[in-house]
Amino acid sequence: MSDPIEAGLIATLSSGAKVKQRLLRQRACNEKDAKGKLCAGHLKRWYFFGDEVKEKFGPDVEVYRCEHCQTLYLPNPDEPPRSGTLAY
Ligand SMILES: [Zn+2]
Repeated sequence: MSDPIEAGLIATLSSGAKVKQRLLRQRACNEKDAKGKLCAGHLKRWYFFGDEVKEKFGPDVEVYRCEHCQTLYLPNPDEPPRSGTLAY
């Protein structure tokens, strides 16, 4: 049995952490564990990514991390940042 291709999966880091793209208005993690249970952890802005993330996605990338399973999420390009500050 092979795993189906996971929706939103962008990359897997050498640490094993997955990097996914957030769905529109997604606020909770949609990872599933081996039993198919939804993680539903909160996605929090995360600033402590290492060089591997910077190399792949740029030094100023907006990264969110699930506080439960540590899956990383990148923002959805169709969703404007919530902060109200200009991105450029
Ligand atoms: Zn999670």
